[in-house]
Amino acid sequence: MSTTSNILKKLDGMLIINGKLVAAERSDEKIKNPATGELVGMVGVSTAKEVDAAVNAARGAFLKWGKSLPKNRTRYLHRIGELIEEDSESLAEILTMEQGKPLKEAHGEILKLAETFHFYAEEAVRINGETIPNDSLHFDSIVIREPIGVVAAITPWNYPAELVGWKLCAALAAGCTIVVKPAEITPFTALAIGWKCTQAALPPGVVNVVTGSGSEVGQALVENKLIDKIAFTGSSEVGLRIQKSATSIKKMSLELGGNCPLIVTANANIDDAVKGAIRRSFRNCGQICIAINRIYVDHTKYNEFITKLASLTKSLVVANGLNNPEADLGAIASEDSLNKTKKHLEDALIKGARLVAGGSRPVGTELQNGRYFLPTVLVDCNHEMDIMKEETFGPIVGVSKFSELSKALKMANDTPYGLAAYVFSKNIDEIKYLSSNLDYGNVAVNNVDAGIINAPYGGRKQSGIGYEHGREGMLEYTNFKHIRTKFTSLDGG
Ligand code: NAP
Ligand code: MG
Repeated sequence: MSTTSNILKKLDGMLIINGKLVAAERSDEKIKNPATGELVGMVGVSTAKEVDAAVNAARGAFLKWGKSLPKNRTRYLHRIGELIEEDSESLAEILTMEQGKPLKEAHGEILKLAETFHFYAEEAVRINGETIPNDSLHFDSIVIREPIGVVAAITPWNYPAELVGWKLCAALAAGCTIVVKPAEITPFTALAIGWKCTQAALPPGVVNVVTGSGSEVGQALVENKLIDKIAFTGSSEVGLRIQKSATSIKKMSLELGGNCPLIVTANANIDDAVKGAIRRSFRNCGQICIAINRIYVDHTKYNEFITKLASLTKSLVVANGLNNPEADLGAIASEDSLNKTKKHLEDALIKGARLVAGGSRPVGTELQNGRYFLPTVLVDCNHEMDIMKEETFGPIVGVSKFSELSKALKMANDTPYGLAAYVFSKNIDEIKYLSSNLDYGNVAVNNVDAGIINAPYGGRKQSGIGYEHGREGMLEYTNFKHIRTKFTSLDGG
């Protein structure tokens, strides 16, 4: 097992190209711990030459990997999953140091990453084809699936391990090779995953990691003609830019932003709804694409709901996630998230919302150098307020009341996004009505965990195209091939 500081030292200023850790020509970019402002390490700013070297390595490796036996790929994926489990504590510390989330959540994320390796290890041997009836008995049509080729994975900073893992594992299982470009502020988790791949003696070039800014390194991958597919998770704005700026035809999956509603009906268990709202609004400081941004509560339950929500919110512990095991919320990873949280708060207050919890930085000298904000609840919100219309991606939620369920549904669907929606109700007719009519890729009822690794996960409208998770997530990395063969009959028919 490796210690955290040893791993960080090993990865400092490095890229992963063609199976090796190589020192980036330029590595003057500082990664700072959002909880303390302390330096975590220096990271490479990949040059065009280094990006090309990574893509060429992936291209070269694809020739063999794409034709390798699926059971061979299964073995590698299981092995990498095991190596990640063995070092899960150190990897979790690295994740918390660069991202800020509480260590127990980071550890959970690393274990889910390992689970993703094992899940896709099993799926690799289940890429089946079909035989298709023809209009003559002398023809056979078979449809097989082949790997797409070289994938560029471009990922954000909120789940630095899982969002790399979903792409990398599914791509490798399908027989693709990959170049990963993680978010500029959380590169070490991705580098650590790439390093685990080298430790598993994965053939050189199958997994490469380049670091640097999205506008340069990410864009260079988008414009590279040797890349066959872009697997992107990030904002809708950058997703659209990527779609517009590709210079050759490429497959794309775009997992984009959300603005997710929760509807609490008159027949909901209010304590469960409050607990769900807390978990999905404030976990990871609200920096979750499927975070609950806005809540609609039946008018008969409104006062009970907001009183309990405010009280439970005030009991949450905001602390340095690395050294305080009690932390419910750690530091906020990105300056942009903090600024948008403050902006949405100010906008809602001007337009008449009431603040019932949070609304400021936590007090205390211990947290003074970090990027912190108290979990914040605004009530009496309406759709004039940005908080009810835009993704905040911070620790704040807006609550509004309704008197007719059809109006709550209309407000919930009144958004360009379509990633996830939540419902709390104990009435089967309400559940049927809402789950059928919410225009979202994922609907969670009486729970707030909308995604599981076994089921397809994706957004609609401006929340993206394509799916991750499940068998479907792997098949996104395959092309169909139809092979139609004519036979000469030997039986005179
Ligand atoms: P972002 O600003 O869109 O960045 C995502 C990634 O794209 C980063 O690696 C970024 O690099 C890179 N990038 C930026 N400009 C680029 C360009 N012109 N060409 C190629 N790549 C470029 O998103 P973020 O701020 O990191 O993450 C927050 C967003 O992600 C939220 O909107 C959230 O909803 C969304 N998200 C969606 C899902 C989902 O499954 N649907 C999951 C998680 C997050 P730099 O870091 O260097 O800028
Ligand atoms: Mg960004």
